[in-house]
Amino acid sequence: MATILKLLMLLIFLVSCSSALAAALERSAEDEAFLRGVNRSPEERIVQIIKETNTQNRRHVEEIYSVAETLLKNADTFDKGVRAYRRGVEADPWNMNARYRFAELLERQERRDEAVDHLKFIYDHAEDERIVQSALGRLSALDQSFKEAVHDVLPSTTYPRKPEIVVVPVGKVNRRYLEELCVKLEEVTDIHFVVGSAIDPGSPDRNAFDRKLDRFVTAILASPKDTKLKETLGNLDANGVAALDVETKVRALTTAYAPDISPNEINSSLARYALMRGSSWQYDSDRLLDLLAKTFPSKKPWVLGYIGLISEDLYSGDGNWVYANSKRNGLSIVSYHRFLAVNSQEPPSRPMLIERTVKAALGGISLITGHARCYKPSCGFGYAYSLRELDRKKIELCDVCAKKLAESAKEAVIDA
Ligand SMILES: [Zn+2]
Repeated sequence: MATILKLLMLLIFLVSCSSALAAALERSAEDEAFLRGVNRSPEERIVQIIKETNTQNRRHVEEIYSVAETLLKNADTFDKGVRAYRRGVEADPWNMNARYRFAELLERQERRDEAVDHLKFIYDHAEDERIVQSALGRLSALDQSFKEAVHDVLPSTTYPRKPEIVVVPVGKVNRRYLEELCVKLEEVTDIHFVVGSAIDPGSPDRNAFDRKLDRFVTAILASPKDTKLKETLGNLDANGVAALDVETKVRALTTAYAPDISPNEINSSLARYALMRGSSWQYDSDRLLDLLAKTFPSKKPWVLGYIGLISEDLYSGDGNWVYANSKRNGLSIVSYHRFLAVNSQEPPSRPMLIERTVKAALGGISLITGHARCYKPSCGFGYAYSLRELDRKKIELCDVCAKKLAESAKEAVIDA
């Protein structure tokens, strides 16, 4: 019974770790049969795919694009290919690459205004700077009236009209995103946000996946009734488990509770673990705060503080879910890692990414300006324990916190 329970736990663990990845990698036999439907005309196939998309999921839309690309190769069926792309973009409106390709096709058909609409959508929403740049290039050529939004977010060298908070890119952070973030933060707080020079975060400090695996293996080894894993690993404590390499742990765990598993299955599990592990690196937010303190030992009198902004995942001690950390010394570190479409399993949307980062940064600002967290969950200075709680917040401060922040800002300007 205990063994069955362990196997069940193992399965839950594996599924929780790899379901998203597995969904992307595997296709059911039914999907395969559907996709092999070679007897249908391309149009019939697309209609069928659209139907499947409504009831199943996005993966089928990729098939529309591949049918469309085939139609585009032939001058006689080129227009049909463009129509097919339209169906794809309708079914999958957040796929920026497909939309860009569709805009390109519209341009070739001399449907300039339609192409411009799609390019503007990409310019406003894409998270990936490369595709924003491509859209920008086409927009500048096609639409004389188009003006790129340029923001002035350079640190002041002389007495500014408002106190400032410097946003410091920690590692590689997209410039467009940074500038848009500063503008939005200024709107909410009436403090001037500027972009400082980037600092290097160094190497990651730990791997969240390794940690999860270690805790799981340690718990099983500590169980007095369970001997299977002890037979292969020996009687190890938490430190002993941590010292083993990932492959040894995964292999031992899998073979102890699924003795009939084939070497091929083990190898494909291991490949999946390697992928999971590769996307689970974390940085110690306390170390990064020390790094910020060392880099910015003094500040201009009108500077309220520094916010380090990082695209990597953060932790603090045992806390595995850290959007913002601060030691109340005018320094804060904020991560937008979990807001990126690639990590949140949501469609890419720069406005959403910025909105969430603004909310996380407001938490950091409450700390660098020395104000306690607010007890109102909707207030920007209130704490959010999950992405859902963060999403339910408003991008604003309650009257009490807004007043406190305005007072801190006034003091900074008076001091200057
Ligand atoms: Zn408040």
